[in-house]
Amino acid sequence: MNDCIYLDNAATTRCSEKVLEAMLPYMVENYANPSGNYASSMECRRAVEEARAVIAGVIGAAPEEIIFTSGGTESDNFAIKGSMYAGAGRQSQIITSKIEHHAVINTCKYLEKEGFFVKYINVDRYGTVDLYQLQSNISRITRMISIMYANNEIGTIEPIEEIGNIAAYYRKIFHVDAVQAFGQIPIDVNKLQIDLMSMSSHKIHGPKGVGALYVRKGSGIESLLHGGEQEFGLRAGTENVAGIVGFAAAAKEAAANMNDNFIYVSKLRNHMINRIMNEIPECRLNGSRVDTGRVENAIRAKRLPGNVNFSFAGINEGSIPLMLDTAGVCASSGSACSAFSEAPSHVLEALGLEEKLALASVRFTIGNDNKIEEIDRAVDELKIVIAQMRESSRA
Ligand code: PLP
Repeated sequence: MNDCIYLDNAATTRCSEKVLEAMLPYMVENYANPSGNYASSMECRRAVEEARAVIAGVIGAAPEEIIFTSGGTESDNFAIKGSMYAGAGRQSQIITSKIEHHAVINTCKYLEKEGFFVKYINVDRYGTVDLYQLQSNISRITRMISIMYANNEIGTIEPIEEIGNIAAYYRKIFHVDAVQAFGQIPIDVNKLQIDLMSMSSHKIHGPKGVGALYVRKGSGIESLLHGGEQEFGLRAGTENVAGIVGFAAAAKEAAANMNDNFIYVSKLRNHMINRIMNEIPECRLNGSRVDTGRVENAIRAKRLPGNVNFSFAGINEGSIPLMLDTAGVCASSGSACSAFSEAPSHVLEALGLEEKLALASVRFTIGNDNKIEEIDRAVDELKIVIAQMRESSRA
């Protein structure tokens, strides 16, 4: 991309050629509305249903449990507001964590303004949700628990199976924001006792503006968009046929290559972490250190394969990602949605980092398109940037 080294794959990914190829016929050749009665409409309808079956297959769901949306943000809003509004009244509570994506945190803040109760659970210094605090906050008024599968900033994989057990035991609705985990690590919604799960296409080499919410059969959820009867009456609006077909093509590719991608990307990630730790003094790796490097152990690995997040002491001003950008490396300070904010990341704060250190942080997210030479060049540039920033902080 514009000759830069792209290491921001958690923000978004390159659309794969196979995905684009699958989408094109539904933009220029058959652009019919899938709700029509003629043959080309039926063909679009069939393409959407095939895509639904593909997404369902990747997570062990039934096709009719997949509702297509405009992406992760809409899926999170739909899951949370749709479930809370469907409850008996405003005197109910949602339990979530302090490190959720803004799509969840800001939805919860909005619900608080409407009179609902929200409990934000702490995490430990590696970003793992405090299960004791979570369990001890469950009460009669708790309606749902919403915890992310894997964190977008620090890559920590949460103990979803244990939380699923807790939610099932207390009969609470369990929503999982799996936007960063879907397509990267194996997910079985039945084994994990998940009721609702958010997914997004553009994180797995699919197009932007499309995603899905897994809705377990029998979950009481209200629609947020009122209009036509599309998506089993749960999400009105003409389906984004090309986007949905592209999303399914991306999910198919991701599932087929999951094992190889996991091993390859983890290797690059470990190389990058090792080089930074060995060559840049006074750095702190944010997130979990545990790594087995094998996809079947991914759940226990506790860190997404491509995530590298570091803070550096001795920097008083400036932005590491901005400095790296001038050196031709695309990285991020955390989530893309907060790229323009000067406030420290709420995730790093929740880990206990002081403000100055949290502001002197950078996130690299490696994808299967990256090469080891790019990782080496990025680390070389990072060494220069950190040295320069420390020098100017001393001046
Ligand atoms: N949830 C998480 C964990 C994310 O990382 C993101 C995007 O970065 C979202 C939700 C929002 O997804 P989308 O960009 O598809 O709206």
